[in-house]
Parts: sequence; C-alpha cells; structure tokens
Amino acid sequence: MIVVMKNGATDEQIRGVVDRVRELGLKPHVILGTERTVIAAIGDKRDEHRQSLESCPGVAEIIPILAPYKVASLEVRPERTVVRVGPLVLGNSHIGVIAGPCSVESEEQTLATARAVKASGAAALRGGAFKPRTSPYAFQGLKEDGLKILAAARAETGLPVVTEVITPADVEVVAAYADVLQIGARNMQNYRLLEEAGQAGKPVLLKRGPAASAEELLLAAEYILNTGNHDVILCERGIRTFETHTRFTLSLATVVWLHERTHLPVVVDPSHGTGHSVLVGRMAAAAVAAGADGLIVEVHPTPERALSDGFQSLTFEQFGELMALCRKIADALGRTIDPARQSACEPSLTQ
Ligand code: PEP
Ligand code: MN
Repeated sequence: MIVVMKNGATDEQIRGVVDRVRELGLKPHVILGTERTVIAAIGDKRDEHRQSLESCPGVAEIIPILAPYKVASLEVRPERTVVRVGPLVLGNSHIGVIAGPCSVESEEQTLATARAVKASGAAALRGGAFKPRTSPYAFQGLKEDGLKILAAARAETGLPVVTEVITPADVEVVAAYADVLQIGARNMQNYRLLEEAGQAGKPVLLKRGPAASAEELLLAAEYILNTGNHDVILCERGIRTFETHTRFTLSLATVVWLHERTHLPVVVDPSHGTGHSVLVGRMAAAAVAAGADGLIVEVHPTPERALSDGFQSLTFEQFGELMALCRKIADALGRTIDPARQSACEPSLTQ
C-alpha cells in the first residue's frame, strides 16, 4: 500500500511512518516527490496495517497498490525516473544511445568503435566481456581482459561503459569496471543475480527475456528495486514468436504499454530485436517514435569479421545514418538525442 503524507509533513513524521512500517514487518520505500512525499509499504497487506498507519501523524491517506509490481509502478511514483550516468541520460525528453560491439574482441576493435560511435552522437559504449552464448563452443568473451579494454575506451572517450554480468559470482569484478550492469535476456528471471547486481550500487539495464511477458519484466525489475537501487533501465529486445523473418519479434507496443505502467526508463535494442543489420536503423527510429528513452545498438568496424552477432551489427557509416534518422524523429517530437544538448537538463529524479 502507499502511505501519502500531508503537504508539509515533517522529516520526523516521515521517519515515524517509516519506523511503523518496519515494525509491521513491511518494507518501506520513501519517494520524495516535488509535491508530496509518499512511502510505499511493501509486503503482505492486512487491514490492521492500514488502520495503524492511517493514524500516524502527518499521514494524509492510504492507497492500496493494485499492480502486482509495486516499486516499479506509476501508482507509487508518478514522476518519471531519469537515469543519468555521465553523458548518458535516459528518461523524460532525453534519449540516450548506447552503442558498441556485441563482444569486446580486441583493444583496437573496441577503441575504434568507441571513437566512431561517440563522433556520431552515442552517449555510452556497450560491449560484452562475459558472453552468454547459445552454443558452449562459441566465443565466450575476453572476461576481465575485456573489461580492462572497455575501461581503456572509457578513459579515452569519456563514454560510460554498459556491459553484461552473467553470474552472481562475477558481479564484483564487472561492477569494478562497468558504469551500468547489463542483465541479459537469458537471465531476466535469475533472481539471485538480479539481487546481487542491484546491490552493486550501479545502474542496471534489464533485458526482457525472449519468452517473458512485459509484466514478468516489471516483476523482475522489482527484485532490483527492492535492494534499494532505483536506477533500473528496462530493455525491450524482442521476443520469440512463430515468425522467422526476424531473429526475434521486436514488440514496440510494449514501450508504450510500459510507459503507462512504470516510471522506469525503457530502452529498445533493435539489433537483437531484428537480427538483420538492414532492419536496425528504421526500427531504431520507430522506437524513438514510440517514446523509447534510449537505444542499445551493436556496431562493429567490420561486421563480417565479428566474433558474435556480425549479421545484425552496423558499420560506422550505417550507425551514423541511424543517428541522423533518429535525430529527425527526436526533433519532431521535441526530444533530444545528442549528449551535448542534454547537459543542461535537470538533475536525476532517482534517489
Ligand atoms: C547482448 O546485448 O549482446 C546480448 C547478449 O543480448 P540479449 O541478452 O538481449 O540476448
Ligand atoms: Mn549480441
């Protein structure tokens, strides 16, 4: 349930409610809004709890949370969460573009890509060092050496690094180098990993599982949010359907559906979502039109030589074209996509 404090409720009254919520065996999440403070009390709801909280000083009203996800819900936090990591801004009218190779293969490949995507307007660098591959015989990533290469690319370009962590045991080493921890589609429902990643103190980009519903995605996000980490980015990357002309079916309606239910930013991955480089640019533009808060795109200096996902990776030139197209859509909608134009925006609403 949500405890809505009165306008002008004091810090002491807020603390009093938080203490009472804990005494009742519920988990408090304090959301400081510009208008009023609300405290989400998460756990088994009972009528006695409601009555007990209603009589606390400073409380205006108690509202039950109807959605099965709680902290992620717009009911709990009507203001949109904006996730900011250096030049990467995701949310409100800002579209953050994360681009880079599927896998970190070498320093040369990663640095060349980082320079090129930055020059075209990307705000962050992606690249897998720990790779979850369908075949155990496929390239599994450079692991910590790959993380070091990503850190070198960040040092040179200033682009924050988004990279995947595939097991709880690796969270510490990945978080030591990464700016954003990516949870891959295969791991969306690996709940221990979600909790461990949430506790690392870095923003988490959570990809939708190929067979997961959007509601299951929100419930998975809840595991991260419940660690007290509010910097969660949702990612639509396509789901498995009977259709075979694309690698996955990119569900852009889900972007709109999510925005109607959650305050969390939503990023779209048109690379995995289509599996064909020729489809990526226009689906990226469609994602921007659908209101996506960001894009994550695979780019490689020589896609035909890539060790993973070359068929869906863009050349530097194609990525430049994608950015030009997305910029037109963003401009038409009064949104910004270039990091330089986002620097004057408001501070993060996350806490
Ligand atoms: C990736 O981003 O390289 C990746 C493995 O994506 P997904 O988890 O969506 O398959
Ligand atoms: Mn990939």
